[in-house]
Amino acid sequence: MRVAAFIERDGLLNRFRMQHDLPVAPIQLEEFRVQPEAVPLVRSLQDAGYLVIATTNQPGLTSGELSRRELDLMHEILLKKLNLDDIMVCPHDEADRCPCRKPKPGLLIEAGFKWHVDLDRSVVISDKWQDAEAARIAGCTSILIDSPWNGPGHHDFQVSSFKAAVAKALSLMNTSGVLLR
Ligand SMILES: [Zn+2]
Repeated sequence: MRVAAFIERDGLLNRFRMQHDLPVAPIQLEEFRVQPEAVPLVRSLQDAGYLVIATTNQPGLTSGELSRRELDLMHEILLKKLNLDDIMVCPHDEADRCPCRKPKPGLLIEAGFKWHVDLDRSVVISDKWQDAEAARIAGCTSILIDSPWNGPGHHDFQVSSFKAAVAKALSLMNTSGVLLR
């Protein structure tokens, strides 16, 4: 079985804008910007044996604010620039009560089946509590990056930057002592 690093998309892999003190995902292709610092970080995770899979809640698909075509074009760019293994999307909003909208663990579990991932040995990297909670339920290790959206819930590790989160993930891989490829 493989091991995965699941990474929250907005804010870590691409930029977002702030609206009423909340991060807002890009709606138009023109405002979609990949975070350049993510390129070497994703590569170092893959070099260590991690599958790197982005996860994202995109309720704009349900509300109609975001078109599927626009999102597909953004994700083509993201896959190409970061060489990600996959991007898992929840298109629902809160009212849909789906099993995949984070903090629910559905995206992690679905990726686990699709990629034959050992969730117990996989990590979730995010600056938001919803990802740490999804990780807890799915049995992954959560690495939370300092932000205004950390929340009071459970997380396994807390670090100050995306770079430090990747360093932590690499150290976990080394201590697990398992040959992955
Ligand atoms: Zn969903």
